[in-house]
Amino acid sequence: MSFQDFLGNETTVRHLREAIAADRLPHALILAGPRGAGKYTLALKLAQTVNCLNPKVTDGLPDYCGVCANCTRIGQAVDLDARVDDAIAAREELREVDKKETRILVQTHPDVLVIPPDPPQLLIKLGQVRTLVREIYRMPAEASRAFYIFTSAAFMKEAANSLLKVLEEPPSHACIILLAENLGDLLPTIRSRSCIFRLGAIPLEQIESLLAERRPDWRPPQRALVARLAQGAVGQALGFDLETYLASRADALVILRNALSEPDYSALFRMTETYRAGAEGQEKTANLLGAMLSLLEDLLLLQSGTPGLVRNIDIQKELAAMSQQVSLDWIEAAERGVHQVRSGMRRNLLRSLSLDTFATELVR
Ligand SMILES: [Zn+2]
Repeated sequence: MSFQDFLGNETTVRHLREAIAADRLPHALILAGPRGAGKYTLALKLAQTVNCLNPKVTDGLPDYCGVCANCTRIGQAVDLDARVDDAIAAREELREVDKKETRILVQTHPDVLVIPPDPPQLLIKLGQVRTLVREIYRMPAEASRAFYIFTSAAFMKEAANSLLKVLEEPPSHACIILLAENLGDLLPTIRSRSCIFRLGAIPLEQIESLLAERRPDWRPPQRALVARLAQGAVGQALGFDLETYLASRADALVILRNALSEPDYSALFRMTETYRAGAEGQEKTANLLGAMLSLLEDLLLLQSGTPGLVRNIDIQKELAAMSQQVSLDWIEAAERGVHQVRSGMRRNLLRSLSLDTFATELVR
């Protein structure tokens, strides 16, 4: 792992690495750009480069080794969704009174705190910024510089005001990174106290040609599908498990077809029957729900007249026909249903049963 596996946005990345070389990385910076541009990956790479115990130089600029204790632990935060799911599951286990007080945070290294939007509202909350305020004035224990990474620009008002106070006089041993899809989501006063670096989306063609190089086992239509499913995120595209995705999507389609044409419950239950309890079943169910959400999003895109953004392009015809049969309300209800099955999974409810309920409720 190094900066050499970061695709795209060469100029911005070079400026940031030059700042590290000159020991002038700003104390507060905003990485702004669309989903999939690599904002989070880049933020972790910056934290790794500044704190690497065996730093190296590539293309004449500072880089990290990827294997020292600091690089490894910071790198463990890279699968953000999985880390956030762990934190949510841990919170679910708490007593009701503690649950309310517990905010979602990801910390795989003692001096690198990742602050994601807190569910269910998916906003950065005051309690999360309070943790930053409590920690940021202590000297880093194992890093040369502590990093605080906000993965969303959607702040609750009190949380934004509290962060603003820190930004007025940030300690020199810390770096605050804010990731924003839209700069306008951040208070002007927060923006004016931070350095802004912009990232652009990685063009689909660029990802497809990278896949052609690295995944020659995939045919061009498969590469086109994966590039879209990864939503422009290079790392996700390269590591994409296409076989598992297609199996999960086939099952999700059984549920949709059952709901939208003549219901065939025996076929449906034969399929849901294969979703068992235990860790394996849990993963299989999570994959099914992920595939279902990508199909529902495509139905939404087709309904809103933006077919160019559809991700499951290999079955676009069938999805277009389905989108004619459903309403916006139906799609939204189906999305809520997916989230209910997900939270049921966390409470260890019977999987096949909650899948059956979900599938049956979709029948109009
Ligand atoms: Zn290292």
